[in-house]
Parts: sequence; C-alpha cells; structure tokens
Amino acid sequence: MAARYKRVLLKLSGEALMGDRGYGLDPKVVDRMALEVKSVVDMGVQVCCVIGGGNIFRGISGAATGMERATADYMGMLATVMNALAVQNALEKAGVQTRVQSAIPMASVCEPYIRRRAARHMEKGRVVIFAAGTGNPFFTTDTAAALRASEMGCDALLKATGVDGVYSADPKKVKDAVRYDRLTYLQVLSQDLQVMDASAISLARENKIPILVFSIHTDGEFAEVMAGRGKFTIIT
Ligand code: UDP
Repeated sequence: MAARYKRVLLKLSGEALMGDRGYGLDPKVVDRMALEVKSVVDMGVQVCCVIGGGNIFRGISGAATGMERATADYMGMLATVMNALAVQNALEKAGVQTRVQSAIPMASVCEPYIRRRAARHMEKGRVVIFAAGTGNPFFTTDTAAALRASEMGCDALLKATGVDGVYSADPKKVKDAVRYDRLTYLQVLSQDLQVMDASAISLARENKIPILVFSIHTDGEFAEVMAGRGKFTIIT
C-alpha cells in the first residue's frame, strides 16, 4: 500500500488507551494501537505521536479539586508521560524502534524534547513519542499535537477518535447528527465543531497542516487512511 504522506503525527487521546475501563490503561488496547502504528511505519511513513493523559488524569482529578490550575495541569502532563512509556513498550515489543521525548526533562526516564534530534530519529525510521504535552500548563495535548506537527514539518496531523470523522453534534447522543467528509479550519472554528481545541486548529491552519479525523476502533484504519482509503474527515 502506497502512503500519501511522508511524515505524520498521530494524536491519541488517553481515553483511546483505556478501552472499556473507566480509567487507566488496557494492555490489550495499547498493544492494538502499537500494531496500528507499526502497519503505517511498515508502509515507509515517518511517524511521531502525541499521547494524551485523560485516562489517568481524569481518574485522579477528584484529588485535584480545589488545586491550583497550573499544579493540576502539571499532574496531567505527568500522566501523559506514563502513557507514552506504555505505548513505547508496546511498540518495541512489536519490533518498532522508538524514542520518548518529554517536554518536561526527565533525564532518567526519557530524552528531553530536542526538535532536531527528534527529526533525526524519524529519518532513521524510529517512532518518536512526544510526552508531557507542550510542557506548559493551560494547554492541551491537542495543541501539543499541532505544535509538534508544525515543528517536525509533518504533512498531516492524524486525530484518532471514537467515531469515523467530524459530526455536527455527538453522533452517540444526537441521532441525526450530520457527518462531514471535508471541512475547512474556519468552518470548524466558526461552527465550534468538537474536533480539537481552537488553538490547535488555529496552529494547524497557520502552518497549513491538514487534519485527518478517523476512528481508532476500526482495525487497520490508520493504514487505510494513510493510503487515502478508509473513512475520515479531512480539514484543510
Ligand atoms: N496538559 C497541560 N499542558 C499541555 C498538555 C496537557 O497542562 O501542553 C495537561 C492538562 O491538565 C490536560 C492533561 O494534561 O488536562 C491531559 O491532557 P489532555 O486532556 O489533552 O489529554 P487527552 O484528553 O487527549 O487524553
């Protein structure tokens, strides 16, 4: 299968890793995500990932009630590091070489984020997993995904979600929600469509990085989308 893109960033939310559990990680799901990534690496695509932390952080957010926002956000960023290590482990088990780079330096756990070094890893066929979001409180991992995709000169930002694209409303709650094949960044912003937060959309728009939204629940879909098939919404 020939890929349409040379270098892509995959944004996986923390929730995508927890399967049916209420919080935390489901090892089977993490392994499946690793195979999804591997199949795209095997197509010759350079892949980097940004992983969210919602699965761990929202599990402990009760404990963060009343806490200063910035402190809670740092806890959220640490959660993304745990997820990054889990995904790294699963990818290496599947035979894919990886590096984790954290926006918050953690010398004995992973590499610090160094843009040129990350690019070099990808040129060598390694999957780089960016952890700790942007390293700043008051941001999200969606924004981190748009930021890293811009810095790494990615041809596309792949947003893995629970459904097969962008809808006018949550299709799990609203029966007649309309699904879009194609949208512009401005449509997403002006209609306040729930894809990624506005700063992530704006950053992708400024740097002309198409966003492809697809379902992570369909086996082999990441590779299908890379080949221009599969079901996805493209935002340009
Ligand atoms: N976070 C942050 N700065 C960042 C990225 C993340 O402060 O650049 C914190 C924030 O508290 C967020 C949490 O980390 O709620 C987990 O990230 P996110 O909610 O984006 O994860 P996802 O919903 O994708 O699992």
